[in-house]
Amino acid sequence: MPASQNYEAFFRRSIDDRDAFWAEQAQGVDWHQPYDRVCNYDRPPFARWFEGGLTNLCHNAVDRHLKGRAEQNALIFVSTETNTEKAYSFKELQQEVQRFAAIYQSLGVKKGDRVLIYMPMIAEACFAMLAAVRLGAVHTVVFGGFASHALASRIDDATPTVIVSADAGMRGGKVVPYKHLLDEAIELAGHKPASVVMVNRGLADLAPVAGRDVDYAALREQFLDAQVPCEWVDSTHPSYILYTSGTTGKPKGVQRDTGGYCVALAASMKHIYQGEPGETFFSTSDIGWVVGHSYIIYGPLINGMATIMYEGLPTRPDAGIWWSLVEKYKVSVMFSAPTAARVLKKQDPAYLTQYDLSSLKALFLAGEPLDEPTATWMADAIKKPIIDNYWQTETGWPIMAICNGVEPAPTKFGSPGKAVYGFDVRLIDETTGEEITEPNRKGVIAAEGPLPPGCLQTIWGDDARYVKTYWSSIHGRTMYSTFDWGVKDADGYFFILGRTDDVINVAGHRLGTREIEESISSHPNVAEVAVVGMADQLKGQVAVAFVVLKDASRAADPASAREQEQAIMKTVDEQLGAVARPAMVRFVGTLPKTRSGKLLRRAIQAVCEGRDPGDLTTMDDPAALQQIRDQLA
Ligand code: AMP
Repeated sequence: MPASQNYEAFFRRSIDDRDAFWAEQAQGVDWHQPYDRVCNYDRPPFARWFEGGLTNLCHNAVDRHLKGRAEQNALIFVSTETNTEKAYSFKELQQEVQRFAAIYQSLGVKKGDRVLIYMPMIAEACFAMLAAVRLGAVHTVVFGGFASHALASRIDDATPTVIVSADAGMRGGKVVPYKHLLDEAIELAGHKPASVVMVNRGLADLAPVAGRDVDYAALREQFLDAQVPCEWVDSTHPSYILYTSGTTGKPKGVQRDTGGYCVALAASMKHIYQGEPGETFFSTSDIGWVVGHSYIIYGPLINGMATIMYEGLPTRPDAGIWWSLVEKYKVSVMFSAPTAARVLKKQDPAYLTQYDLSSLKALFLAGEPLDEPTATWMADAIKKPIIDNYWQTETGWPIMAICNGVEPAPTKFGSPGKAVYGFDVRLIDETTGEEITEPNRKGVIAAEGPLPPGCLQTIWGDDARYVKTYWSSIHGRTMYSTFDWGVKDADGYFFILGRTDDVINVAGHRLGTREIEESISSHPNVAEVAVVGMADQLKGQVAVAFVVLKDASRAADPASAREQEQAIMKTVDEQLGAVARPAMVRFVGTLPKTRSGKLLRRAIQAVCEGRDPGDLTTMDDPAALQQIRDQLA
């Protein structure tokens, strides 16, 4: 393939000559048995990519690199919390993964079984993920910041055979114990895992449950020389489930395949991120999020790159820490979130430039809107291209980006770029369902099926919900909805204008307001609640809760209102985790609703942000919005 080609032609071919295009991309991965069909779209919207092919994600990420890269760094684990730094070569990574796979086997894990991983950012989490897909088991990583109720609902949905966890994580020098949250979650869940593998970091009390908990280190000793071959699985075999928030309280298990995901990631490394085999990739995300799956673990490793797994803050011991790692490990591609850049923006830029950043080609930012001041500050500070890209847990890799690996193109401030090859993106008028073709008119960002390889196959265990949620919201058409608003300019660059649903984005973390509302409603003093996202300088958005108490006198004076607020925040902390805690809880006598009883979240949000709440003719009691205003004053 020529180094530079016309992007428009490349994109068109991905849509108009889909199978030939993706067959070419599929050459970037190893197939144990070739596929019969590039894309089976006989049953829309279910796409089956590379049907008939046999492959394995762990083989592509690890084993195939032993030829030629056995001694090269594969995984570099850095914790500024425990002052640990350890690099694993591809050979060592393969050995650790085989040991973990042998542990799974000894606990009865078979192909298709689920393994739930609830862990901090430590190397063992990476081994646990790769070992699962090595056996054809399906991993589901639950973000370590979630608490027992959030974890319990995921245990019940995924019904794992085994759970892997650790005694604790650490953040900002403080130990964050996991074990009691896990025990509570298993207690709450209807499904009980057969075994729990515990990694003991020596940070917190473990109190093993007899007959269920097993010690990772002791088992690892038994399997030091384990040889566990990769299980060849169908390309369409699920590799993992990753839960994400939606408009209901019940999280959705995004199910990913094996072959399509592998091909999509391999291609993205070449066309979007431009990392070369042998170089080092540094993504500052967490394995609990989609970026962590695609660009801490699988993407870089599939591409034969070393990947850095970092536990700690971007500012500790000082704001130079990430950049010192860039120098030390000659990082060529870095991936972070706008929130992290905004945190760094508060620091002296000298911290960033005291290190040799000459290896770094670009810094990619994704997960939330990138504001112009932050992008400019960052570009000035590190003197490298800052490249925004837009995607979702559902898609697994970018829907919009600048594909510099195909044809170098300028970035535009505030835009994550153009539609990425494979995504037949359309802007749709919300009321008529018609496609918007003129530039700069706002619409819902949607895509014609099939979605390209790497995107969600379905919602785990719920095909009907998959179709209803994602493919039925655009007037009379079977189209994928991103639930984001956007506009496209005359050059084909998109600008993202926020969600069309009740999902909010706090510091790049996606949260469902319904989930937070359900948690707050469980507090015995609460009669009703509305949670909305409010614009925030640092975190992009924060959650704000407006609560109607069963007994209003409980919040009659500022001191008792503060007490109620703290009690409600504690409930959210305990059930969902501090990540979902509202920034403030305010008490009102009634909530703004339509006459049919529907909460007017968008009007509340507008008031919170000092905007016009729009048409209120359907509103039941206009005084309710005034109460919100009064509470914010
Ligand atoms: P998640 O599934 O957690 O990755 O969140 C996906 C959502 O985050 C998208 O639907 C957008 O609302 C938002 N998002 C992700 N990337 C960007 C970006 N580059 N610019 C604006 N919003 C983004």
